[in-house]
Amino acid sequence: MIRDSWFTIQEIDSSTFAISEYGHWENVHSFLLIGEEKAALIDTGLGIDQIKRITDQLTNLPITVLTTHVHADHIGGHGEFERIYVHEKDSDWLRNGIKGLPLEQIRKDIGRDITIPAPETFDPTTYTPYQGEPAGLIADGDVMDMGNRKLMIYHTPGHSPGHLCVFDETNGYLFTGDLLYDETPVYAFFPSANPIDLVQSLERISEIKNVSMVYGSHNTLGLDPDILKEVKLAVKFLRENELVRFGTGVHEFDGFSVRF
Ligand SMILES: [Zn+2]
Ligand SMILES: [Zn+2]
Repeated sequence: MIRDSWFTIQEIDSSTFAISEYGHWENVHSFLLIGEEKAALIDTGLGIDQIKRITDQLTNLPITVLTTHVHADHIGGHGEFERIYVHEKDSDWLRNGIKGLPLEQIRKDIGRDITIPAPETFDPTTYTPYQGEPAGLIADGDVMDMGNRKLMIYHTPGHSPGHLCVFDETNGYLFTGDLLYDETPVYAFFPSANPIDLVQSLERISEIKNVSMVYGSHNTLGLDPDILKEVKLAVKFLRENELVRFGTGVHEFDGFSVRF
């Protein structure tokens, strides 16, 4: 297995890898899915170090970057790749940055609580999130055929307007981005978020059949698919108690929580 000063590489199976950043408080995961003809990289991490150094060691195939959403912790290495895809509703943020989110805030969040040595090239005081033109847009229902495996794209807005989940139909892996993970609240409390959309998206992914494992973008790597049953109950609870709106706070469920 690859050893690296910044990234932790874990083999999910012989053609699927998690590339994680445990040295940073956000515990971000990016995922490399290798097919017969091409590879997909789901997000590119924090941009503290160069993720392409890792993907180059794992595959020679051309890499298509699938962006779960345009937040700094998911697009950090986008500049290292040619073929970047994003949902239309987050594409303006990719080109022009997130309106209303001060750069000082991004720099504060990227630079704090780092527990392992960051590379010398990283300077939180000058850190600037990636901005650029995507190679193309991806939308709900799109299928990425990688030869021996098929990836289905689900548009799952709420945390961001153009948030996507990726379902590897062939292996049953559901990559949920910032829509579902454990330990810290999934959040939709800031102005560009939408609690109603988030709950609808949670409901939608809870109905996906034949999920073998759930991979969120933060915290524990790999969640038992039973969490989707809890998601179903959570959706019902939140709606019945009229909690699906801004300002209702943190709602705890078995295995995950949501903050509005
Ligand atoms: Zn996010
Ligand atoms: Zn995130």
